[in-house]
Amino acid sequence: MNQAFLDYYHCPASAAVFKPASTGTKRPGYFRFGTGNICFGKSLATTPDRVDEHMPDMAARVEFDGTLYSLPFDPDEVATNLRYERYVRPPNNASAKKLVRKLYYALRPALPVSIRRHLQKAWLNGWADRPFPAWPVDRSLDRMFQELMCLSVKASAQKRVPFIWFWPERKSSCATMTHDVETDAGLKFRNDLMDINDSFQIKTSFQLIPDARYVVSEEELTSIKSRGFEVNVHDLKHDGHLFSSRKVFMESAPQINRFGTAFGSRGFRSAILYRNQEWFSELDFSYDMSVPNVGHLDPQRGGCCTVMPYFIGELLEIPVTATQDYTLFHVLETYSLDLWRQQTNLIMQQHGLISFIVHPDYLDTPKAREAYAALLEHLSTLRSDSNVWIALPGEIDTWWRERRNMRLVCSGDTWRIEGHGCQRATLAFATLRDDKLVYEFE
Ligand SMILES: [Zn+2]
Repeated sequence: MNQAFLDYYHCPASAAVFKPASTGTKRPGYFRFGTGNICFGKSLATTPDRVDEHMPDMAARVEFDGTLYSLPFDPDEVATNLRYERYVRPPNNASAKKLVRKLYYALRPALPVSIRRHLQKAWLNGWADRPFPAWPVDRSLDRMFQELMCLSVKASAQKRVPFIWFWPERKSSCATMTHDVETDAGLKFRNDLMDINDSFQIKTSFQLIPDARYVVSEEELTSIKSRGFEVNVHDLKHDGHLFSSRKVFMESAPQINRFGTAFGSRGFRSAILYRNQEWFSELDFSYDMSVPNVGHLDPQRGGCCTVMPYFIGELLEIPVTATQDYTLFHVLETYSLDLWRQQTNLIMQQHGLISFIVHPDYLDTPKAREAYAALLEHLSTLRSDSNVWIALPGEIDTWWRERRNMRLVCSGDTWRIEGHGCQRATLAFATLRDDKLVYEFE
């Protein structure tokens, strides 16, 4: 009931002032919890099984007994449903779509980008009409936790709740840049790409395909790592089949894990963001980066509806929260930074993680390289002017694990943070200003 809220904020257990309203919950459905916020889960009300105007607002059904709030739903269940994408229903024509997808990936290597683009557009038809998850960034889960924090602040005697700030050294938000290397040409471009990144003092991660398309030798690995960049494993064969069945996945996972060891990698990303988070426990990695925040423009629908990393068992999920370069350049057909800027702003409002995938393979025109350099320029401005932390995925993983193990300790009427890495952590307070939740540092 309270664990997801406590894990999100790392606030004292006493701040989780919530209890279940009563038994007798109905089947899962969509509902609101405060303004502009959509949740999916079991609740005491009758809820629609699609997002529509009949969704009840559960905020109106919360009751306070002076100490605890009775909630008509379980925040832990909603958090799991959204993060693990359990709200996604298979499309009506699921098997036909599966066949088309299989055919597409069989033909893909032979298809020129112009034809692929055409097919992808047909495939994605109607994406803009989908009301959930919200485009271009979904923050449903983050907002649910904020609504709960509002209630907690109101119930507290001091009218503020201490918690461990989301990022190290008081950074306002976090940004990370990653590169999936799709072809030999992309791999050959790595040194030029690292030069571009270094000119903005931005280190990035390279995801390499271990068992197809090109050979990854010790030389390639060293050329990347020795410059302070990161190497992760990208799928196994990159044929779009890794998650096609449990059998295929179970045969592939041990091979992927062995390549992880051989590459000295702590991170993984699947091809084309195909995924089944329920199977991720087979991956022997510290973190995964295969889950989009909102998947409207990806072949697999869904999205984790949060802009914060989260744990799937012992694996840290570092979600992809910005639109991919290929989608921007070839599906939306723009080299403008507007969408990336808009996403960045929305994520920063939540103090979340801004994460990009830019493929070296698609930086093959001056226009694309200019757009990429402009993005790096934008990020470095955010770093200097808005105190954004630009970090490697591995650094995010290390921090998120340290934060998970830190404790807030009360002595007298002051709080302090204890635990490994606590010198980088900041004590923050949630409080209300004009009835709106704000965060402040002491
Ligand atoms: Zn890829």
